[in-house]
Order: sequence, then structure tokens, then C-alpha cells
Amino acid sequence: MPTESVPLLLTPGPLTTASSTRNAMTVDFGSRDQAFIRINREVRQQLVALCADPAAYSCVLMQGSGTFSVEATLGTLLPRDGKALVLMNGAYGRRITHMIEIMGREVVTLVDDETEPTSVARLDAALAEDPSITHVAAVYCETTTGMLNPIQQIADVTAKHGRELIIDAMSAFGALPLNAKRTPFQAVVASSNKCLEGVPGFGFAIARTDALEAAAGNCHSLSLDLHAQLRGFENNAQWRFTPPTQVIAALHEALRLHHEEGGVEGRGGRYRQNCEALVSGLRRLGFETLLPDELQAPIIVTLRQPADPNFTFTRFYDALRQRGFAIYPGKLTQAPTFRIGCIGQVTPRDIGRFVTTVAEVLERQDITSAAP
Ligand SMILES: *Cc1c(COP(=O)(O)O)cnc(C)c1O
Repeated sequence: MPTESVPLLLTPGPLTTASSTRNAMTVDFGSRDQAFIRINREVRQQLVALCADPAAYSCVLMQGSGTFSVEATLGTLLPRDGKALVLMNGAYGRRITHMIEIMGREVVTLVDDETEPTSVARLDAALAEDPSITHVAAVYCETTTGMLNPIQQIADVTAKHGRELIIDAMSAFGALPLNAKRTPFQAVVASSNKCLEGVPGFGFAIARTDALEAAAGNCHSLSLDLHAQLRGFENNAQWRFTPPTQVIAALHEALRLHHEEGGVEGRGGRYRQNCEALVSGLRRLGFETLLPDELQAPIIVTLRQPADPNFTFTRFYDALRQRGFAIYPGKLTQAPTFRIGCIGQVTPRDIGRFVTTVAEVLERQDITSAAP
């Protein structure tokens, strides 16, 4: 049961994790210990197996939050004389563009409104028009809104034009379908603390091994160089710099639970049930979602703030937090919103209790209508 001191995290991550995942962190591994090296190898193998053919793809782990891995992947795989087209309909697409600008490589953008999915027709036209674009960068689930971008069509169009695709699948990996056999990509990037339900501390890229091998000396950064990091893993099974040992042990256990739940299908199935319970429950109370159901990824839901003058987000947040639930502020520039995550160790029953609690808080705060 969630309590005031340990709330259920209905956020985009870090998330509520299983107790066995947290317990896996109680051992002090030496970074050269055989037990740690085995865990490290298994984590890398299992991550590749989730989305690609291990004969053609390698997994490179990288210290830091997910952003570090996105930056490492772009810095390693974008050639210095390459040109990226970033598909942008939210904060994470904007962040990718910003990174590439800081690296000093050429970048152009295809911008859609935050409430619209990436326009595949415009992508097709942009690639036809500009043969100097070498790479397309896309965000699978735009966590800013919870938007599900059409990753299959994006991959098909990018491959049709013979360009490379790099996918930020941070908030989708492990819960939404993605396999290089069907959805061709050069690299996909995610982190330990979202749908895989590990704890925060590292991210990873799964990339074509030939592309990683060809990228020697390309990266602008010493610590974010995925080519050098892969070399380290392959040569002596070591991280180049201090590994987050406990966090890796936690992901090892979290991956066991992921497999036990039925892999991507099982995990995604529970998140879909959570999302449906959340959306239908809050709509019954009068709330409106930002996105129509067909654009909604079962990861995080953006809700419009009620127009009732008694509603303020901070008061609403605090009352829910006191009752054991942590929600998340909105990230939109256009409309006042807030967000509720469907991911982590959360069940449809938890969501049911959450909806009941929201009803109670509305009543206590004299909010007669939740309509925006
Ligand atoms: C969480 C997330 C990231 C990485 O954010 P960090 O705070 O660095 O972990 C990147 N892209 C998307 C789409 C995300 O949801």
C-alpha cells in the first residue's frame, strides 16, 4: 500500500520498482569481480535480444541518465560531416536538436505540433528533397505529452531513402513493440529506469555493430564515446570508468521480472490496462485528456487542468501526495496540463484506488467540475 512516506510513483521515471529489484542492490560488487562481469554480460545480451539480432547488433551501456546515452549515441554515430534531420513534436525532440547543435554538427528539423504525431508524408518529402541528410532522429513515445509517434512508418520511409535511423525509445523500450527485423534502425537508445523498471543510473544503446566499429575517433567526447566503450566491453569485459555496479545488478533482476511477466507483450499489456483504467476513470470524473485515444501511448497520460477556480495544481498535487500518490506536472507550453504515468510496478487495481482518491480530493477541495 502506498503511504505518505513511500508514495506510488505515477511519473515518467524514476518509478516504483519491485522489492527484489531494490534488494539486488545490497551487494558490494568489485568492478572486476567474476560475478559482476557475468551480470554485466547477461544484461547486455538480454537487452539486445529484446529488439535485434545479436549477430548484427551490440549493446553498449553508458553511465548517467538517459540523456547521456542519447548524446553518446548521436556523438558516436553521426559522422562529423553528416547531417541529421530531427523529428520534433515535444521536449525530447528539441533536446536532441540542441545536443547536435552543441556538438557542432549539421542539423535540420521537421516540427509538428505537440498534439500531432510526426507527419510521415513530410518526412518522405524532406528526405527526397535533401540527399545530404544522412541520419533521421526520432522519439518513439514523446514523453512530453504521451504521444505515440508512428515509428514503423518513420523507419520504412527512412529506409526507403537509404538513410540511417536513430530512435530515442527511452519511455517505450521494453513495453512497446520494436524489433530491428521489422523496424530497421541503426541505433535505439533507452535507460534502466523506465519501462524495464530498474533504478536510475545508466542508459544504453543497441546499435549496428558495424556502425559502432566504423565510428572510431568520431565522437567529440572522451567519456561519451560508444565506440571506445564497446571496445572496453569486448576486450576485457570491463567498463572504461567506474560502473554503477548496484544499478546494473538491479537491472539484471528487473530483466528477470520482465521476462517472467511475458516480455514486451506482457509488460505492455499491463501498462495498457493501467492506461485504460486511468483514462476511463478520470473521464468519468469529468477530466479531459490532451490526446485522442488513437495517439495515446500507454505510458503517460496528459490531462488538461480543470477550469474550476478552486483548482490549483500545487494543492491538488499535495493532497494526492499526502494520500500516497505522486503525480507529475505538465511540460506543455500551450495549455495548463498535468501528467500521470502508467508505468512501473503499478497495477490496474492501484489505478482504481488512485481514481477513487482523485474523486475524494476534488470533493474536499470543492472542485465541482473537472472540465477544462
Ligand atoms: C526520460 C526520457 C529521456 C531521458 O531523460 P533523463 O532525464 O536523462 O533520463 C529521453 N527521452 C525520452 C523520450 C524520455 O522519456
